[in-house]
Amino acid sequence: MREQPHAITLTPLKEHGEQCGQLLWVGYHTHRTVTKLDGLWKLTIVVRRCVQLECPRYHVAYRPEEEGRWALPHGKFGRGG
Ligand SMILES: [Zn+2]
Repeated sequence: MREQPHAITLTPLKEHGEQCGQLLWVGYHTHRTVTKLDGLWKLTIVVRRCVQLECPRYHVAYRPEEEGRWALPHGKFGRGG
């Protein structure tokens, strides 16, 4: 079962800053590859930023909320109690 990697783009649902309500700009994209049961997924992660100088969250990166679901603990073993 050799398949092409799946590709998905994750975009922050938030388009406006929490503090100032201004439109957030796309700052940059980052990429990562996640292996899931159904194969390899190539993620493009859109990171937005506030460009209002006066904003308390100026230049704070907003990453896609969804990203958390993709951040699988990789080779990490829980330490029980
Ligand atoms: Zn802002």
